Amino acid sequence: MPPEIVYENANWVYDKKVVKQKLLEIFGLKNVSDKEVDLFAYGKDFSLIASHWLLKGKIAAKPDFIVWPENVKQISKLLKMATAEKVPVIPFGSGSGVVGGALPIHGGIIVDMKKMDKIVEINKVNLTATIQTGINGMNLERTLNSKGFTMGHIPQSVYTSTLGGYLAHKAAGQFSTKYGKIEDMILSLEAVLPDGTIIKSKPAPRKSIGPQLDKFLIGSEGTLAIITEVTVRIWPLPEKRVLISYAFPSMAQALEAVRSILQSQVYPAVIRIYDANETARHFLTEANAKDRCMTIFVCEGSQQIAEFEASIVSEKSRSCEGVACGSAPVEHWFATRFNVKESSTLIPLNLVVDTIEVAVMWDKANKLYQSVIASMNAVPGTVLATGHASHFYEQGVCFYFSFGGTAVKQTEEEYYRTVWKACIETTLQIGGTIAHHHSIGLNRLQWMKDEWGAAYDVIKRIKKSLDPNNILNPGKLFLHEVGKKEQKEK
Ligand SMILES: Cc1cc2nc3c(=O)[nH]c(=O)nc-3n(C[C@H](O)[C@H](O)[C@H](O)COP(=O)(O)OP(=O)(O)OC[C@H]3O[C@@H](n4cnc5c(N)ncnc54)[C@H](O)[C@@H]3O)c2cc1C
Repeated sequence: MPPEIVYENANWVYDKKVVKQKLLEIFGLKNVSDKEVDLFAYGKDFSLIASHWLLKGKIAAKPDFIVWPENVKQISKLLKMATAEKVPVIPFGSGSGVVGGALPIHGGIIVDMKKMDKIVEINKVNLTATIQTGINGMNLERTLNSKGFTMGHIPQSVYTSTLGGYLAHKAAGQFSTKYGKIEDMILSLEAVLPDGTIIKSKPAPRKSIGPQLDKFLIGSEGTLAIITEVTVRIWPLPEKRVLISYAFPSMAQALEAVRSILQSQVYPAVIRIYDANETARHFLTEANAKDRCMTIFVCEGSQQIAEFEASIVSEKSRSCEGVACGSAPVEHWFATRFNVKESSTLIPLNLVVDTIEVAVMWDKANKLYQSVIASMNAVPGTVLATGHASHFYEQGVCFYFSFGGTAVKQTEEEYYRTVWKACIETTLQIGGTIAHHHSIGLNRLQWMKDEWGAAYDVIKRIKKSLDPNNILNPGKLFLHEVGKKEQKEK
């Protein structure tokens, strides 16, 4: 029996025979599929709710076609055709997004970018690399490492995600406090707009040429353009790495230590503050961390810089009552940092689990952490609500909350949505931003107006002018339904 489809493609109607013929003309037989097995494989991402559905025999959504472009010209032809035929087009990297961004909720054509995975150039003088966006993150980093460089972008999903995905949802890697987030790494890009226009900016250290369209596309979640190639900054591999950890009596003291480190202009590549619950989960054998907040640091770069930064980290940590725990907790983190098997063991036990990341300025940081944990615990059925802080700035911090619970008074899906609501609305009340690096997708769409205010109408107008038929990833970021009404009348 075929699985039930959660998002039925009820509203968009297009002539599939005509579209298939045109796709075959653009891509050739080997790069187009409408086989059921492929359509079901591309109907999900890594959002936890989609995983729950899967275990219950349901699939989130079902596209009509998958295509695998090999060059930018094919993408240009595709988007021209899709605009003319009014067919949704959904860019797809590896489907590791966690908020439903790549789900084909109105059917249409999935554009799997993985065949566009070339490293076009590594420029050792400028310290840049030019790369097609379908490349797998780990393949990119390993290739750079083999030539003595790093991009410094290592998200936990690095084995299962692409450069295009990082750009589209504004990713942040584990080493972000030194190397920056994805938007800090990009010098120029090539992209295809919904009408098929190919735009390409040139790399420069900085530009003063009016608003930068290329930067505007970073974070656009596949709704404004398909990004095909970028030039990024790269760095020589660090000469020295120093591993440090301290356990603090409270989240407030750990935050204070890290704030003072960053505000002294010291930038450890990795910083992670775990609350007491997460410390117990990950560092149970570390006696000095019992009932405390374990905080790990990785300082790297030239020997002098790494050692100097490590000395400041220790000094500031001690002054906030941090107890030194040595390098072992950081070695443990390195050994387990890609391990996400916990969530897949919990879902079959009927525990509803997920993670939600938000960001806030320092002066509200501890209040936000305490209030969000309290709000998630207040939802009937919650068994555990925990948090860690994993990305830092001179001005503020990103918190990454996790929750797990069972549906006691409502369905599992209602419980899931109630906890999300509690977390996001508490964040808004305190003045935080509703997403730090997982993006909007489907999960956060209902709060776009609260987050953006009057500016939301402005960005919607930009979307309408670039994509009048709403073909690029419809139903994400923007709620406007241009195209849908006309389709109904057809
Ligand atoms: C276990 C796990 C750990 C994770 N850890 C991190 C982390 O440390 N940091 C972090 O930032 N995120 C993390 N994520 C979430 C993150 O969204 C994805 O891992 C990843 O960045 C998405 O890349 P992808 O290639 O899989 O994109 P997909 O899931 O395929 O797509 C994501 C979005 O990007 C769009 N898109 C994809 N390619 C293009 C393109 N070329 N042009 C335009 N739009 C495009 C899609 O339409 C969709 O809207 C994690 C996810 C998982 C499952």
